[in-house]
Amino acid sequence: MTTRVLILGAGFGGLELATTLSEALGEGVAVTVIDRSDSFVFGYSKLDVMFGRTTAEAVRNPYADVLKPGVRLLRETVTGIDAAARRVTTDRGSHEGDILVIALGADYDVSGTPGVVLGVNEFYSVAGAAHLATVLPEFKGGDVVVGVCGAPYKCPPAPSECALMLHDYVTARGLAGATRITVVNPLPSPVPPSPEMSAAILKAFEARGIGFIPNTRVTAVDAGAGRVTLSDGAVLPCDLFLGVPKNRAADVVVAAGLTENGWVTVDPLTLATSYPGVFAVGDLAATGVPKAGVYAEGAARTVAANIIAMVRGEPQTARNPGAGSCYIEIGAGLIARIDVDFLSGPKPFGTFHGASEEMRRDKEEFGASRRARWFGR
Ligand SMILES: Cc1cc2nc3c(=O)[nH]c(=O)nc-3n(C[C@H](O)[C@H](O)[C@H](O)COP(=O)(O)OP(=O)(O)OC[C@H]3O[C@@H](n4cnc5c(N)ncnc54)[C@H](O)[C@@H]3O)c2cc1C
Repeated sequence: MTTRVLILGAGFGGLELATTLSEALGEGVAVTVIDRSDSFVFGYSKLDVMFGRTTAEAVRNPYADVLKPGVRLLRETVTGIDAAARRVTTDRGSHEGDILVIALGADYDVSGTPGVVLGVNEFYSVAGAAHLATVLPEFKGGDVVVGVCGAPYKCPPAPSECALMLHDYVTARGLAGATRITVVNPLPSPVPPSPEMSAAILKAFEARGIGFIPNTRVTAVDAGAGRVTLSDGAVLPCDLFLGVPKNRAADVVVAAGLTENGWVTVDPLTLATSYPGVFAVGDLAATGVPKAGVYAEGAARTVAANIIAMVRGEPQTARNPGAGSCYIEIGAGLIARIDVDFLSGPKPFGTFHGASEEMRRDKEEFGASRRARWFGR
């Protein structure tokens, strides 16, 4: 009997898992990947779209290009998950697996943050980034708040990158003197596991007059009155809000009874849930590592290695490394990198690589290698 692996979500985690299984087992495994979208977009592309460096259409990676032995990709929306039976329902039918891997990413919840509207004043969805790309050219200067509405959230450095890229943008338009940028972030520093990276970002903020309010989140946005309210009760003037909505696992995952405090409970090292044969990888899993593509990939490779071992009748010894590299735009087109290892030592350990041309090439290679590996492009 061919092992049936059912993967929910074709993002960083789902694509890496399906690819690794196909490379190792080919037709020797029956992989079904379900995603409601027709294409994948790298998270960092949303910043490029927002600042008009590219378009939403240009950054789409169509799932139709994913052609791999043993893998079929279905465009369906998951509407129910029965973890005990490893069965899911979708808008088009139902599917079962011998192994079920849930990789549906983090969803956005604006219900608790009045004034934050998906697709309008946030840059964490493609629609939001594309909409802001039409708003920014109309901006004439004023107070801009880059505000995070809750933690944990995907890609901790992204709000800092947004502020620095915005500064470049208003400078190019001759509006820097008329613009005041403030970052509001529930984290204690821009990138807590790397004091060096945080210091470099804060130095870049200081040089540009960008304010940073740590340990604080945005609780409401009043566009009409031109202000935002913060979790400590303070009110900031705000002519333009660029938001990071509260992140949490999707309703369908919560309804399946798999979550605690909004995230799926797993063994961080094996990504196993409490249901036999059911795993959760990527942003929706509570592993203690950041919600970023590289960590989703590492988790996916771990689950893939153990599935491959199981199919081959070998011991399942793979463990989630919880380590990865993140690239960060620190303004003026410069790119730096941090490598952070979260799980192998007693506490997270980060290594900072300052901005260089090598880092820029590295980041380009990061995207290009995934496009080649997952989409054959
Ligand atoms: C602005 C920004 C910048 C970022 N920059 C970086 C970066 O530089 N480096 C980095 O490593 N990470 C970055 N990230 C984070 C990265 O994008 C995510 O951490 C990563 O995509 C998580 O992978 P995942 O597989 O868990 O989920 P995702 O990649 O989000 O994939 C989840 C998939 O599930 C699908 N799905 C959801 N619900 C359903 C449903 N009900 N039915 C069917 N399909 C469904 C979605 O369509 C999606 O394709 C950034 C994110 C943002 C927003």
